[in-house]
Amino acid sequence: MSFGIYLHIPFCTRRCDYCDFYSTVLSDESQTTRLLAAAAQELQLSFSTRQWPAAVDTIYIGGGTPSLIEAEHYAGFLKALILLRHLAPEAELTIEANPDSLTPVWLAALREIGVNRLSIGIQSLQDSLLRRLGRLHTAVEAIRAVEMARQAGFDNISLDFIFAIPGQTPGELAADLEFLLELRPQHVAWYCLTWEQGTPLHQRLQTNPDLKLPADDEADRFLQIHAAMTAAGYEHYEVSNYALPGFRSRHNSGYWLRQPCLAVGPSASSFDGVTRWTNQADLETWLESLRQGRAPVATQETVTGESLLLELLYLGLRRLDGVSRADLRQALGDAAYYRLVKKLETSRFSAYILETTDRIKLTLPGILLLDEIILELADCNE
Ligand code: SF4
Repeated sequence: MSFGIYLHIPFCTRRCDYCDFYSTVLSDESQTTRLLAAAAQELQLSFSTRQWPAAVDTIYIGGGTPSLIEAEHYAGFLKALILLRHLAPEAELTIEANPDSLTPVWLAALREIGVNRLSIGIQSLQDSLLRRLGRLHTAVEAIRAVEMARQAGFDNISLDFIFAIPGQTPGELAADLEFLLELRPQHVAWYCLTWEQGTPLHQRLQTNPDLKLPADDEADRFLQIHAAMTAAGYEHYEVSNYALPGFRSRHNSGYWLRQPCLAVGPSASSFDGVTRWTNQADLETWLESLRQGRAPVATQETVTGESLLLELLYLGLRRLDGVSRADLRQALGDAAYYRLVKKLETSRFSAYILETTDRIKLTLPGILLLDEIILELADCNE
Protein backbone atom coordinates (compact mmCIF):
# COMPACT_ATOMS: atom_id res chain seq x y z
CA MET A 1 0.00 0.00 0.00
CA SER A 2 1.29 3.44 -0.97
CA PHE A 3 1.19 6.37 1.47
CA GLY A 4 1.06 10.00 0.29
CA ILE A 5 1.65 13.39 1.86
CA TYR A 6 -0.05 16.46 0.42
CA LEU A 7 0.88 20.06 1.29
CA HIS A 8 -1.55 22.81 0.25
CA ILE A 9 -0.03 26.21 -0.54
CA PRO A 10 -2.96 28.65 -0.33
CA PHE A 11 -1.38 31.58 -2.19
CA CYS A 12 -1.88 32.97 -5.69
CA THR A 13 -0.79 36.18 -7.38
CA ARG A 14 -4.38 36.80 -8.47
CA ARG A 15 -7.53 34.65 -8.70
CA CYS A 16 -8.26 33.07 -12.09
CA ASP A 17 -11.84 33.62 -13.32
CA TYR A 18 -12.94 29.97 -13.07
CA CYS A 19 -11.22 28.80 -9.88
CA ASP A 20 -12.86 27.98 -6.56
CA PHE A 21 -9.88 26.36 -4.79
CA TYR A 22 -9.06 27.98 -1.49
CA SER A 23 -6.29 30.51 -2.00
CA THR A 24 -5.50 34.05 -0.99
CA VAL A 25 -3.20 36.71 -2.39
CA LEU A 26 0.30 36.37 -0.92
CA SER A 27 1.04 39.69 0.79
CA ASP A 28 4.33 39.24 2.64
CA GLU A 29 7.13 36.74 3.32
CA SER A 30 6.08 36.19 6.97
CA GLN A 31 2.89 34.45 5.75
CA THR A 32 5.08 31.84 4.04
CA THR A 33 7.19 31.23 7.12
CA ARG A 34 4.10 30.86 9.34
CA LEU A 35 2.40 28.53 6.82
CA LEU A 36 5.32 26.13 6.47
CA ALA A 37 6.07 26.05 10.21
CA ALA A 38 2.41 25.30 10.97
CA ALA A 39 2.26 22.65 8.21
CA ALA A 40 5.22 20.85 9.83
CA GLN A 41 3.43 21.12 13.18
CA GLU A 42 0.28 19.64 11.63
CA LEU A 43 2.33 16.68 10.35
CA GLN A 44 3.68 16.09 13.85
CA LEU A 45 0.24 16.35 15.44
CA SER A 46 -1.30 13.91 12.98
CA PHE A 47 1.54 11.39 13.27
CA SER A 48 1.20 11.42 17.06
CA THR A 49 -2.60 11.07 17.14
CA ARG A 50 -3.52 8.85 14.16
CA GLN A 51 -2.25 5.63 12.59
CA TRP A 52 -0.23 6.08 9.39
CA PRO A 53 1.97 3.68 7.35
CA ALA A 54 5.67 3.56 8.25
CA ALA A 55 7.05 4.99 4.98
CA VAL A 56 6.04 7.80 2.65
CA ASP A 57 5.89 6.92 -1.07
CA THR A 58 4.65 10.15 -2.62
CA ILE A 59 4.69 13.84 -1.71
CA TYR A 60 2.59 16.37 -3.59
CA ILE A 61 2.90 20.12 -3.06
CA GLY A 62 -0.15 21.72 -4.66
CA GLY A 63 -2.18 24.87 -4.45
CA GLY A 64 -2.66 27.65 -5.00
CA THR A 65 0.64 28.48 -6.60
CA PRO A 66 3.56 26.68 -4.93
CA SER A 67 6.02 28.38 -7.33
CA LEU A 68 5.42 31.66 -5.44
CA ILE A 69 7.40 30.29 -2.47
CA GLU A 70 11.18 30.04 -2.25
CA ALA A 71 12.62 26.51 -2.39
CA GLU A 72 14.32 26.86 1.02
CA HIS A 73 10.89 26.81 2.71
CA TYR A 74 10.15 23.44 1.08
CA ALA A 75 13.57 22.15 2.13
CA GLY A 76 12.64 22.89 5.76
CA PHE A 77 9.26 21.17 5.41
CA LEU A 78 10.81 18.06 3.81
CA LYS A 79 13.42 17.92 6.56
CA ALA A 80 10.67 18.03 9.20
CA LEU A 81 8.80 15.25 7.39
CA ILE A 82 11.85 13.02 7.08
CA LEU A 83 12.43 13.30 10.83
CA LEU A 84 8.92 11.96 11.39
CA ARG A 85 8.62 9.25 8.73
CA HIS A 86 10.88 7.19 6.49
CA LEU A 87 10.84 8.42 2.89
CA ALA A 88 10.86 5.51 0.40
CA PRO A 89 14.02 5.61 -1.79
CA GLU A 90 12.02 5.84 -5.03
CA ALA A 91 9.51 8.34 -3.65
CA GLU A 92 7.69 10.57 -6.14
CA LEU A 93 7.98 14.25 -5.17
CA THR A 94 5.72 16.53 -7.20
CA ILE A 95 5.33 20.28 -7.07
CA GLU A 96 2.82 22.42 -8.94
CA ALA A 97 3.92 25.61 -10.67
CA ASN A 98 2.50 28.38 -12.84
CA PRO A 99 4.40 29.66 -15.89
CA ASP A 100 4.34 33.30 -14.72
CA SER A 101 6.23 32.54 -11.49
CA LEU A 102 8.77 29.94 -12.69
CA THR A 103 12.47 30.82 -12.78
CA PRO A 104 15.57 28.72 -13.60
CA VAL A 105 16.92 29.41 -10.08
CA TRP A 106 13.74 28.13 -8.39
CA LEU A 107 13.63 25.04 -10.61
CA ALA A 108 17.29 24.19 -9.97
CA ALA A 109 16.78 24.61 -6.20
CA LEU A 110 13.76 22.30 -6.26
CA ARG A 111 15.74 19.62 -8.12
CA GLU A 112 18.49 20.07 -5.55
CA ILE A 113 16.16 19.21 -2.64
CA GLY A 114 14.86 16.10 -4.40
CA VAL A 115 11.69 17.20 -6.21
CA ASN A 116 11.50 14.90 -9.24
CA ARG A 117 8.14 15.72 -10.85
CA LEU A 118 6.80 19.08 -11.96
CA SER A 119 3.16 19.84 -12.74
CA ILE A 120 2.68 23.10 -14.67
CA GLY A 121 -0.71 24.84 -14.98
CA ILE A 122 -0.62 25.67 -18.68
CA GLN A 123 -4.40 25.44 -19.43
CA SER A 124 -4.00 26.52 -23.08
CA LEU A 125 -1.25 27.42 -25.52
CA GLN A 126 -3.25 30.23 -27.13
CA ASP A 127 -3.36 33.74 -25.69
CA SER A 128 -7.01 34.33 -26.68
CA LEU A 129 -8.12 31.26 -24.64
CA LEU A 130 -5.86 32.11 -21.70
CA ARG A 131 -7.48 35.56 -21.54
CA ARG A 132 -10.97 34.00 -21.54
CA LEU A 133 -9.92 32.01 -18.44
CA GLY A 134 -8.41 35.04 -16.71
CA ARG A 135 -4.94 33.46 -16.59
CA LEU A 136 -1.90 35.64 -15.92
CA HIS A 137 0.57 34.04 -18.31
CA THR A 138 0.93 34.00 -22.09
CA ALA A 139 1.43 31.03 -24.43
CA VAL A 140 5.07 32.01 -24.99
CA GLU A 141 5.67 32.03 -21.21
CA ALA A 142 4.08 28.57 -20.97
CA ILE A 143 6.40 27.12 -23.62
CA ARG A 144 9.38 28.83 -21.99
CA ALA A 145 8.37 27.30 -18.63
CA VAL A 146 8.54 23.79 -20.08
CA GLU A 147 11.92 24.53 -21.67
CA MET A 148 13.27 25.92 -18.39
CA ALA A 149 12.05 22.86 -16.50
CA ARG A 150 13.84 20.54 -18.93
CA GLN A 151 17.02 22.58 -18.71
CA ALA A 152 16.84 22.31 -14.91
CA GLY A 153 16.81 18.51 -15.29
CA PHE A 154 13.10 17.68 -14.84
CA ASP A 155 12.38 14.56 -16.87
CA ASN A 156 8.90 13.94 -15.47
CA ILE A 157 6.73 16.91 -16.40
CA SER A 158 2.95 17.05 -16.27
CA LEU A 159 0.93 19.80 -17.95
CA ASP A 160 -2.63 20.79 -16.99
CA PHE A 161 -4.98 21.83 -19.80
CA ILE A 162 -8.62 22.93 -19.85
CA PHE A 163 -11.18 22.27 -22.60
CA ALA A 164 -14.73 23.50 -23.24
CA ILE A 165 -13.50 27.06 -22.65
CA PRO A 166 -16.19 29.64 -23.60
CA GLY A 167 -16.28 30.02 -27.37
CA GLN A 168 -13.54 27.41 -27.93
CA THR A 169 -13.99 25.87 -31.38
CA PRO A 170 -12.90 22.32 -32.35
CA GLY A 171 -10.20 24.05 -34.45
CA GLU A 172 -8.86 25.91 -31.41
CA LEU A 173 -8.81 22.68 -29.44
CA ALA A 174 -6.98 20.97 -32.33
CA ALA A 175 -4.38 23.76 -32.22
CA ASP A 176 -3.87 23.31 -28.45
CA LEU A 177 -3.46 19.55 -29.00
CA GLU A 178 -0.94 20.14 -31.79
CA PHE A 179 1.16 22.59 -29.72
CA LEU A 180 0.97 20.33 -26.67
CA LEU A 181 2.06 17.23 -28.58
CA GLU A 182 5.02 19.16 -29.97
CA LEU A 183 6.10 19.77 -26.36
CA ARG A 184 5.59 16.06 -25.57
CA PRO A 185 5.45 16.16 -21.76
CA GLN A 186 5.45 12.84 -19.89
CA HIS A 187 1.96 13.44 -18.48
CA VAL A 188 -1.07 15.58 -19.32
CA ALA A 189 -4.27 16.30 -17.38
CA TRP A 190 -7.16 17.50 -19.56
CA TYR A 191 -9.94 18.99 -17.42
CA CYS A 192 -13.35 19.96 -18.72
CA LEU A 193 -14.06 23.52 -17.54
CA THR A 194 -16.29 23.47 -14.47
CA TRP A 195 -18.59 26.39 -13.75
CA GLU A 196 -18.15 26.87 -10.03
CA GLN A 197 -20.74 28.96 -8.20
CA GLY A 198 -19.42 32.32 -7.06
CA THR A 199 -16.58 32.58 -9.61
CA PRO A 200 -16.43 35.52 -12.06
CA LEU A 201 -16.91 33.05 -14.92
CA HIS A 202 -20.09 31.69 -13.35
CA GLN A 203 -21.40 35.23 -12.90
CA ARG A 204 -20.88 35.88 -16.61
CA LEU A 205 -22.89 32.75 -17.36
CA GLN A 206 -25.96 34.29 -15.68
CA THR A 207 -26.14 37.00 -18.34
CA ASN A 208 -24.83 34.88 -21.21
CA PRO A 209 -25.91 31.20 -20.94
CA ASP A 210 -24.38 30.48 -24.38
CA LEU A 211 -20.89 30.65 -22.82
CA LYS A 212 -21.30 27.07 -21.64
CA LEU A 213 -20.94 24.44 -24.33
CA PRO A 214 -23.88 21.97 -24.67
CA ALA A 215 -23.15 18.57 -23.07
CA ASP A 216 -22.95 16.87 -26.51
CA ASP A 217 -20.25 19.32 -27.61
CA GLU A 218 -18.30 18.74 -24.39
CA ALA A 219 -18.46 15.00 -25.10
CA ASP A 220 -17.24 15.56 -28.68
CA ARG A 221 -14.29 17.60 -27.38
CA PHE A 222 -13.46 14.86 -24.85
CA LEU A 223 -13.39 12.30 -27.69
CA GLN A 224 -11.30 14.65 -29.87
CA ILE A 225 -8.72 14.85 -27.06
CA HIS A 226 -8.80 11.09 -26.48
CA ALA A 227 -8.21 10.36 -30.19
CA ALA A 228 -5.27 12.79 -30.51
CA MET A 229 -3.59 11.81 -27.24
CA THR A 230 -3.84 8.04 -27.72
CA ALA A 231 -2.69 8.32 -31.35
CA ALA A 232 0.41 10.12 -30.02
CA GLY A 233 1.23 7.20 -27.70
CA TYR A 234 -0.31 8.48 -24.44
CA GLU A 235 -2.16 6.03 -22.26
CA HIS A 236 -5.58 7.32 -21.15
CA TYR A 237 -5.62 5.94 -17.61
CA GLU A 238 -8.17 8.12 -15.79
CA VAL A 239 -11.06 10.30 -16.98
CA SER A 240 -8.85 13.40 -17.26
CA ASN A 241 -5.34 11.95 -17.23
CA TYR A 242 -2.95 10.77 -19.94
CA ALA A 243 0.59 9.45 -19.50
CA LEU A 244 3.45 8.16 -21.60
CA PRO A 245 4.27 4.56 -20.53
CA GLY A 246 5.68 4.50 -17.00
CA PHE A 247 4.63 8.06 -16.13
CA ARG A 248 1.23 7.73 -14.46
CA SER A 249 0.90 10.02 -11.45
CA ARG A 250 1.62 7.79 -8.47
CA HIS A 251 0.27 10.29 -5.97
CA ASN A 252 -3.08 10.78 -7.73
CA SER A 253 -3.33 7.05 -8.44
CA GLY A 254 -3.07 6.52 -4.68
CA TYR A 255 -6.07 8.80 -4.28
CA TRP A 256 -8.19 6.84 -6.79
CA LEU A 257 -7.06 3.55 -5.22
CA ARG A 258 -8.18 4.80 -1.78
CA GLN A 259 -4.72 4.66 -0.30
CA PRO A 260 -3.92 6.76 2.78
CA CYS A 261 -2.96 10.38 2.31
CA LEU A 262 -2.11 12.85 5.04
CA ALA A 263 -2.88 16.31 3.68
CA VAL A 264 -1.77 19.42 5.55
CA GLY A 265 -2.52 23.09 5.01
CA PRO A 266 -5.75 25.08 4.88
CA SER A 267 -8.60 23.26 3.03
CA ALA A 268 -6.50 20.09 2.52
CA SER A 269 -8.35 16.72 2.60
CA SER A 270 -6.92 13.58 4.20
CA PHE A 271 -7.85 9.89 4.23
CA ASP A 272 -6.47 7.28 6.61
CA GLY A 273 -8.13 4.25 4.96
CA VAL A 274 -11.41 4.58 6.86
CA THR A 275 -12.07 8.24 7.65
CA ARG A 276 -11.91 11.32 5.44
CA TRP A 277 -11.51 14.82 6.83
CA THR A 278 -11.05 18.30 5.42
CA ASN A 279 -9.17 21.15 7.06
CA GLN A 280 -10.50 24.60 7.77
CA ALA A 281 -10.41 26.57 4.51
CA ASP A 282 -9.10 29.81 5.94
CA LEU A 283 -5.42 30.51 6.60
CA GLU A 284 -5.85 32.42 9.87
CA THR A 285 -8.42 29.97 11.32
CA TRP A 286 -6.19 27.03 10.38
CA LEU A 287 -3.13 28.74 11.94
CA GLU A 288 -5.07 29.55 15.11
CA SER A 289 -6.20 25.92 15.58
CA LEU A 290 -2.60 24.73 15.35
CA ARG A 291 -1.43 27.51 17.68
CA GLN A 292 -3.83 26.07 20.24
CA GLY A 293 -2.52 22.53 19.60
CA ARG A 294 -5.81 21.40 17.98
CA ALA A 295 -6.24 19.50 14.70
CA PRO A 296 -7.51 22.12 12.20
CA VAL A 297 -10.34 19.89 10.95
CA ALA A 298 -13.56 21.40 9.57
CA THR A 299 -15.47 18.27 8.52
CA GLN A 300 -14.93 14.56 9.03
CA GLU A 301 -16.69 11.44 7.75
CA THR A 302 -16.15 7.75 8.36
CA VAL A 303 -16.83 6.13 5.00
CA THR A 304 -19.24 3.23 5.45
CA GLY A 305 -22.46 1.81 3.98
CA GLU A 306 -23.93 3.73 1.03
CA SER A 307 -21.17 6.35 1.00
CA LEU A 308 -18.56 3.58 0.85
CA LEU A 309 -20.28 1.97 -2.17
CA LEU A 310 -20.58 5.35 -3.89
CA GLU A 311 -16.94 6.15 -3.23
CA LEU A 312 -15.64 2.75 -4.37
CA LEU A 313 -17.53 3.07 -7.65
CA TYR A 314 -16.76 6.75 -8.19
CA LEU A 315 -13.02 6.38 -7.63
CA GLY A 316 -12.71 2.91 -9.15
CA LEU A 317 -14.66 3.41 -12.37
CA ARG A 318 -13.01 6.73 -13.23
CA ARG A 319 -9.83 4.74 -13.87
CA LEU A 320 -9.76 3.10 -17.29
CA ASP A 321 -8.43 -0.05 -15.55
CA GLY A 322 -11.63 -0.07 -13.51
CA VAL A 323 -11.99 -1.62 -10.11
CA SER A 324 -10.99 -5.05 -8.84
CA ARG A 325 -13.83 -7.39 -7.86
CA ALA A 326 -11.74 -8.72 -4.97
CA ASP A 327 -11.23 -5.19 -3.62
CA LEU A 328 -14.93 -4.41 -3.94
CA ARG A 329 -15.90 -7.63 -2.18
CA GLN A 330 -13.41 -7.12 0.62
CA ALA A 331 -14.46 -3.49 1.21
CA LEU A 332 -18.23 -4.01 0.92
CA GLY A 333 -18.66 -7.47 2.43
CA ASP A 334 -20.37 -10.39 0.66
CA ALA A 335 -23.99 -9.24 0.93
CA ALA A 336 -23.46 -5.74 -0.51
CA TYR A 337 -21.03 -7.06 -3.15
CA TYR A 338 -23.57 -9.59 -4.47
CA ARG A 339 -26.30 -6.93 -4.50
CA LEU A 340 -23.99 -4.89 -6.73
CA VAL A 341 -23.32 -7.90 -8.99
CA LYS A 342 -27.08 -8.31 -9.44
CA LYS A 343 -27.45 -4.62 -10.27
CA LEU A 344 -24.73 -4.92 -12.91
CA GLU A 345 -26.70 -7.78 -14.56
CA THR A 346 -29.83 -5.67 -14.89
CA SER A 347 -28.29 -2.23 -15.44
CA ARG A 348 -29.72 -0.17 -18.30
CA PHE A 349 -26.12 0.87 -18.89
CA SER A 350 -24.81 -2.69 -19.33
CA ALA A 351 -23.58 -1.91 -22.88
CA TYR A 352 -21.16 0.58 -21.31
CA ILE A 353 -19.82 -1.72 -18.59
CA LEU A 354 -17.06 -4.28 -19.23
CA GLU A 355 -17.00 -7.18 -16.81
CA THR A 356 -14.12 -9.64 -16.64
CA THR A 357 -13.60 -12.39 -14.09
CA ASP A 358 -11.57 -10.08 -11.87
CA ARG A 359 -12.43 -6.48 -12.83
CA ILE A 360 -15.32 -4.14 -13.61
CA LYS A 361 -14.65 -1.17 -15.88
CA LEU A 362 -16.35 1.26 -18.22
CA THR A 363 -16.01 1.58 -21.98
CA LEU A 364 -14.89 4.97 -23.33
CA PRO A 365 -18.53 6.04 -24.04
CA GLY A 366 -19.28 4.70 -20.53
CA ILE A 367 -16.71 7.09 -19.05
CA LEU A 368 -18.81 9.93 -20.50
CA LEU A 369 -21.79 8.59 -18.52
CA LEU A 370 -19.78 8.02 -15.34
CA ASP A 371 -22.08 9.97 -13.00
CA GLU A 372 -25.30 8.43 -14.33
CA ILE A 373 -23.91 4.88 -14.19
CA ILE A 374 -22.63 5.26 -10.64
CA LEU A 375 -25.90 6.74 -9.40
CA GLU A 376 -27.80 3.81 -10.85
CA LEU A 377 -25.42 1.16 -9.45
CA ALA A 378 -25.22 2.78 -6.02
CA ASP A 379 -28.98 3.23 -5.63
CA CYS A 380 -29.82 0.69 -2.95
CA ASN A 381 -33.56 1.31 -3.18
CA GLU A 382 -34.09 -0.35 -6.54
S1 SF4 B 1 -3.43 29.94 -10.16
FE1 SF4 B 1 -4.49 27.97 -9.87
S2 SF4 B 1 -5.17 27.94 -7.73
FE2 SF4 B 1 -4.60 30.08 -8.23
S3 SF4 B 1 -6.54 31.03 -8.82
FE3 SF4 B 1 -5.57 30.30 -10.72
S4 SF4 B 1 -6.40 28.20 -11.03
FE4 SF4 B 1 -6.83 28.81 -8.90
